[in-house]
Amino acid sequence: MAKKIWLPKEILEKLSRDKSSDVRKAIAANPDLPKEVLEKLSRDKSSDVRKAIAANSDLPKEVLARLSRDESSDVRRAIAAHPNLPREVLEGLSHDKSSEVRRGIAAKPDLPSEILEKLADDPNDEIKIVVLENVNCPENILIRYATYEKPKFRQIISKRRNLPKAIVDVLTDRKRFALEEHMFINGICSQCGCGLEFVEYFGSGCNRFLK
Ligand SMILES: [Zn+2]
Repeated sequence: MAKKIWLPKEILEKLSRDKSSDVRKAIAANPDLPKEVLEKLSRDKSSDVRKAIAANSDLPKEVLARLSRDESSDVRRAIAAHPNLPREVLEGLSHDKSSEVRRGIAAKPDLPSEILEKLADDPNDEIKIVVLENVNCPENILIRYATYEKPKFRQIISKRRNLPKAIVDVLTDRKRFALEEHMFINGICSQCGCGLEFVEYFGSGCNRFLK
């Protein structure tokens, strides 16, 4: 409740020392925390309190940087969702060991393209997918994954709005190629058993030929 009510600084300071972490957490969510209280709660022993601080929209750069290296991945994930992250913080979180944190970064619409490029090579396919869904995904990454061996990326790309013609052409070619490679009889490939939807999903060719 504390986040909706204006409280004098002295009360906020007092509550920020409360032994209940729930009380400290409620205070941490207050958007008008005095700098000292914010600073203190950002070092709270409870990760729930630090996470609540991470959601505060008005955080000094040092606090953002420190919480982006927090031992709790929940706190780092909350920082990844923060709207005003300095470049170094974005950079650091883009190779966080938690894929949830990296996913949070990959989804940001205002990400510098070099960071998106790096995340496009993430070992986790889920992260690649978030990059391909990012509204600012550069064309070279889209082209690369439109011709990638795994059809699921073509599926994601094909759902984007306003695809550049070069990419539409690649997708059309892959579909035509897939249709030619299979031997469909009544909608089922007589050689590999896959259905027409495999082609709809831009599968690159008959499974039999892929082996
Ligand atoms: Zn086939």
